[in-house]
This record gives sequence, C-alpha cells and structure tokens, in this order.
Amino acid sequence: MKEAVDLHAHTNRSDGTLTPVELVRLAKEKGLAAVAVTDHDTTAGVEEALAEGERTGIRVIPGIEMSTSLDGCDVHLIGLFVDIHNAALQDRLREVLEDRNERNKRSVRRLQEKGFSVSQGDLDAYGADKILTRGNIAEILVKKGYAEDIKDAMGKYMCRGKVGYARRRVPDPSECIRLLHDAGARVFVAHLHQIDLKDPEHSMDICRRILAMGADGLETEYCEFDEVWKIRAKEIAGEYDCLESGGSDFHGSLKKGLELGTGYGDLFVPAAFLERM
Ligand SMILES: [Zn+2]
Ligand SMILES: [Zn+2]
Repeated sequence: MKEAVDLHAHTNRSDGTLTPVELVRLAKEKGLAAVAVTDHDTTAGVEEALAEGERTGIRVIPGIEMSTSLDGCDVHLIGLFVDIHNAALQDRLREVLEDRNERNKRSVRRLQEKGFSVSQGDLDAYGADKILTRGNIAEILVKKGYAEDIKDAMGKYMCRGKVGYARRRVPDPSECIRLLHDAGARVFVAHLHQIDLKDPEHSMDICRRILAMGADGLETEYCEFDEVWKIRAKEIAGEYDCLESGGSDFHGSLKKGLELGTGYGDLFVPAAFLERM
C-alpha cells in the first residue's frame, strides 16, 4: 500500500474541534505517514502536536493557513515547515488576530441589528486564545436554529454580501509569501477552486499570479476537488514545475462527513509530495 499523508488539517486552536494531541492520535489511527497542523493564522497548536508526534511516532509538519486576498477574492496560503519561533511572523499574526476579532465583533453587531439572537458572549464562550472564523459564527447560528448546518449558515448569512459578513484587513499575498519564506516555510496556494466560486478561469489566473510572486506550489489534491479541478490543478503545477501539496482540510466535527486523510472518501495525498519539499 502506498503511504498517505494529510497536509491540511485544523485543530481547536482555530475552527477545528479536536485538540492538537487528538488530531495527531487520529492521524496515527488512520495509518497516515504524516500530518500537518495548519490552523488559520496561528501556530498555537503546533508545539503540542509535535510533542505528541514524538511520543506516538508519527511525523508532524508544523504549518499554518494564512488568509490573504487578490482582486477582492479570498485566497488561502498554506505554509509548511514553518519556524513557529520566527518573531516577525508572530508579530504580524498578532495584528491579524486583532483585526479578525474586530471583524467578528462587527459581524455579530450586524446580525443583532437584523434581529438575530447572537452576542459577543457566544464568541467569548469559545475561550480567549482561539482564532475564531466566520465558520464559528456560522456554528453559533446553527446551534440557535437559524440554519441546518454550517454550510447552510455560511451560504445564507456569512458570505460576501450577506447579513453577517464583514470585511477584514489581511496581508497581501506577496507579504504572506515573504513572511512565510523568512520563517523557513514552503508556501502553497490552498483549494484554488474556492478563490472565485463564480469564475474558475479567474481562480486559476489568481493562482498563477501567486505562483509567479514566489509561492512554491499549490494543492493538487483536496477533499472537494472533482476530476476537472484535479486536472486543472495538475496542469498549473506542470506549467510552473512547482511543488504539490494536498489535504482533507479536516475540521473535526465542524465539517460533517469529512475524514482526516481520506476527505469525503476518495482523497489520497501521496507521501511523495512531502518527500519533494
Ligand atoms: Zn482555507
Ligand atoms: Zn483549511
């Protein structure tokens, strides 16, 4: 059997539901050769995961998923092999966190103004040192009966143009790439199909531009990729002769039916991706 890895997974330090230790134990159970911890704009879960990796004998890759934007589209960049002690990166992440908290407050206020029964207290209940995303606000809306599930809540209330959506400032792609490279990381464009949901060509154009800015590669295996997106991603990887990465984007129980390693059932990220990095 060929060895599988998962290079995109979240813990409860951002919007996942498993602790870093639980994530690593699950990766071990699933028989993965390696797992990367890639929380949104934080490396807070990495140290614990590395320690558990040592204990259980599974390879843990220190990572992060940074949000950026281009042409007004949200773009996520995955940094792998990041030095979590890099001061410039951590300073910038603190600013990003402040902006994110400010954005979450505005989201909650907007929802309140429209009569939704949500409060800052609902957010605070997650705990102080957590990175809270729009997904968490969506989760609150589900718990309060405003939507069927997270996906439903995101679509109805939390995406661009909807009542709970508020913009936040994010570093631009070239700054993210520089910060991550300076911290020793390899940088990958995550889930390129999500960049511009209305225009696949635009998503691909943005991905190419970010590779031209110096990103090291892109995810060519991703839990939501259909055959068409796999071909598109591989095509870009070929054009730029760049590195490939991939993963399930596991979030614990936040994303229903999504498994670490295998995604929605047919995901396979070869260990060879990791060996080339
Ligand atoms: Zn993402
Ligand atoms: Zn992710």
